[in-house]
Amino acid sequence: MYDFLIVGAGLAGATLAERLASQLDANVLLVDRRDHIGGNCYDPVSPDGLRYHRYGPHIFHTNSADVVAYLSRFTAWRPYAHRVLSHVNGQLVPVPINRTTINALYDLNLDSAGLEAFLRARAIPSRFIDSSEKLILSRVGRELYELFFRGYTRKQWGLDPAELDPTVCGRIPTRSNDDDRYFTDAFQAMPADGFSAMIGRMTDDPRIEIVTGCDYRTVADRVVFDRLIFTGPIDEYFEHRYGRLPYRSLEFEFTTVDTPWVQSAGCINEPSADVPYTRTTEYKHLTGQQHAKTIVSREYPRAVGDPYYPIPRADNRALYERYRKLAARETNVTFVGRLAEYRYYNMDQVVASALAKFEALAALAQVAS
Ligand code: FAD
Ligand code: UDP
Repeated sequence: MYDFLIVGAGLAGATLAERLASQLDANVLLVDRRDHIGGNCYDPVSPDGLRYHRYGPHIFHTNSADVVAYLSRFTAWRPYAHRVLSHVNGQLVPVPINRTTINALYDLNLDSAGLEAFLRARAIPSRFIDSSEKLILSRVGRELYELFFRGYTRKQWGLDPAELDPTVCGRIPTRSNDDDRYFTDAFQAMPADGFSAMIGRMTDDPRIEIVTGCDYRTVADRVVFDRLIFTGPIDEYFEHRYGRLPYRSLEFEFTTVDTPWVQSAGCINEPSADVPYTRTTEYKHLTGQQHAKTIVSREYPRAVGDPYYPIPRADNRALYERYRKLAARETNVTFVGRLAEYRYYNMDQVVASALAKFEALAALAQVAS
């Protein structure tokens, strides 16, 4: 007999399990169909002793002091500012595009005002920015759009930037200074012992029973529980009643190299259509480990496979909206997280969403008592 059955032991499921157990003294059964907890943040250690991210590079960054305060109960932090280089015209240049990028690519020596004028002269403004293509054209013009965004995006999503919401490429700003950090959030750091250890501490409570390698459908009618919390794909919960919601997948190719370092930044992006993968990641940059060997991964986008990315565009949002209405009619089920809310959430946004759902559940519990 459990108070809650939580489906998915990623950040969403772990946050709710922790809050419900510690604040409401609830008994929780937390299940995941993978053979580990942590969801996509899972960062195991290889037989060589190298930590890597099984589902691609995860860098924690946020402007939410509440989320930092919450997670800091379960981890110490190692400051880390992520840097990315893009392979363009035979050079490795910083992304987001900044002053260094433009001066290197065009062999110029512009100051910030000069760079702003350079971009203004190339920008193609639109009255209604309703796609990633229009957004990037309005910021940097066609040539830089083609060099940095079009090929990468077509590979990553299997769609042209013209077919994607502005919010997709809009994640990447343009800068007129030399700041080459990928993110500018106030807080940028990695959990000192990794994400899996942090999530392990969140769920280390006698009131939380964890079962991995278990699809919830195999246990849902065998255990008794008051309320379900679902963090998997929302369309799967409803057995694809209105058809499949598209999620983009990735295949990761990991290589251990017998040399201390192979690249000068955490990620190197490959926007060219001639290269089949989108980026290479060298995990030691992210983890801060010192080691004689190093692990790198390449990411090959796929249409089928584990669901990693909701695909932000109007028709998918409309289909999600139909599922959301079904979800709202479910009594006793809470849908939360990147797959269940069909939102291109970063980790901090998932934690914030889970904390908000917890507050709603706590209010319900108060009414009931
Ligand atoms: P998930 O981590 O996907 O967890 C859901 C869990 O539910 C999964 O483990 C799944 O196995 C389980 N599940 C689903 N269905 C069932 C079922 N029927 N039965 C049992 N279990 C089930 N965010 C950042 O902030 N910074 C980054 O740098 C960053 N990089 C990323 C890179 C990649 C390649 C990807 C894919 C994502 C990245 N993210 C990043 C986003 C981050 O991974 C997510 O925001 C976060 O991990 C989502 O947590 P979640 O709990 O909602 O979902
Ligand atoms: N993007 C791009 N070129 C780049 C980096 C990003 O075109 O060099 C676009 C691409 O569509 C990508 C999106 O911007 O999917 C968001 O990039 P981000 O690095 O945030 O993606 P994530 O880490 O979530 O995969």
